[in-house]
Amino acid sequence: MAKNTLDQKMQQIVSLCRRRAFIFQSSEIYGGLNGCWDYGPLGVELKRNIKAAWWRDMVTERQDIEGVDCSILMNPKVWEASGHASSFTDPMVDCMQCRGRFRADHIVKNQCPTCGTKDKFTEVRLFNLMFKTYVGALEDSSSQTYLRPETAQGIFVNFDNVVNTCRVKVPFGIAQIGKAFRNEINPRNFTFRSREFEQMEMEFFVKPDLEEANKWFEYWKQERYQWYLKYGIKQERLHLRPHEENELAHYAAGCADIEYDFPFGRAELEGIANRTDYDLKRHSEVSGKDLKYFDAEAKTHYVPYVIEPSAGADRATLAFLVDAYEEEPENERTVLRFHPAIAPIKVAVFPLVNKEGMPELAEKLTKTLKKKWHSFYDDKGAIGRRYRRQDEVGTPFCLTVDGETMKSNTVTVRQRDSMAQERVAVDQVVGYLEKQLTGI
Ligand code: ATP
Repeated sequence: MAKNTLDQKMQQIVSLCRRRAFIFQSSEIYGGLNGCWDYGPLGVELKRNIKAAWWRDMVTERQDIEGVDCSILMNPKVWEASGHASSFTDPMVDCMQCRGRFRADHIVKNQCPTCGTKDKFTEVRLFNLMFKTYVGALEDSSSQTYLRPETAQGIFVNFDNVVNTCRVKVPFGIAQIGKAFRNEINPRNFTFRSREFEQMEMEFFVKPDLEEANKWFEYWKQERYQWYLKYGIKQERLHLRPHEENELAHYAAGCADIEYDFPFGRAELEGIANRTDYDLKRHSEVSGKDLKYFDAEAKTHYVPYVIEPSAGADRATLAFLVDAYEEEPENERTVLRFHPAIAPIKVAVFPLVNKEGMPELAEKLTKTLKKKWHSFYDDKGAIGRRYRRQDEVGTPFCLTVDGETMKSNTVTVRQRDSMAQERVAVDQVVGYLEKQLTGI
């Protein structure tokens, strides 16, 4: 697609997100706050469904992964040990003409991306991406800590707690979903690069043996790639890209990104890395606590290697939105073709007319459905308009209570994608939808 068309597509998605209560600017009435976003009533459902799908697939349905939910504020020593305090930095330059600030590695041909001026940049300076804050009443260096820039470190510092309380055996994983904060120099592309975002991370501990670690590295690359396909991402837009040698973090033995073709270009959704024993060893050194694992079968103590799939919940949400978005002028509609498991509303119920007992019956049906799924009652406007409104937010099923319902106790069920309609008995609607919405 040409660049203009792609820009236009992104603009349409951003505008749909605002209009239909998916995503708003943070503190909008005050002019917003760069790099921060609020999820509205439909956006919060979508994002919660995505996180729930991740948790179900990564924790609930597995025997070998436990979950945790750690604090955002941690002892500052954590960030000393992990290396973030000294080296979680981006090289940065300022344009002396327009005062714009950019990542030095994003500058092409020494030209300012905002005003176009050439060769007028400051020296490269390193900029730490962590947000500083103070714990307690005193604002001095002894009370200074950071908002966590990743959730992974909470997992590493709880490694021993989980091992000692949960009877886990290597290979096993610990998973966490939670907020992370990075003072990105250039937040952009809607929610893609934000300053406050959510991560879905899992640390999978394996024997400290390169062959064993590589086996699990391959396994998690495939598992995670398949996960996006399972919830509907189109394969031709999803890529698994191994890192070049010079891209690898100094402690990583291997890394691959799962990338998606957004309208603004191909960009990272998730990274899968072999972090070796770097983190646990560093925490042992700095905390003085021995974080070796005792392998009862092999009767040896060792520090495990770790394979980490690290995904962003907001980037995943944006990818699912972009991927689901379709304009169908021939049907006079815009449709979000969400997989039913992540659709914010699963079913909408309409009384055809606001009389003859139809609204009462439709409301009663909505109440029953709401016990199982996020359902929505709508009695406003022409029926065709009501269908279009649900198509635009990705609702997979619409039920209409009409004249026939009052005679034969059946409703019209209309499918979002095919727009096909069929009649289903009122007392069988729940079973019917259950079958259609399997996997939820
Ligand atoms: P990038 O190169 O895009 O800055 P990264 O390689 O620094 O990302 P990681 O540190 O590997 O990212 O973080 C893991 C995941 O967390 C990313 O794949 C992404 O989904 C998410 N993530 C990281 N930074 C941001 C951000 N600023 N906004 C939204 N999500 C983010």
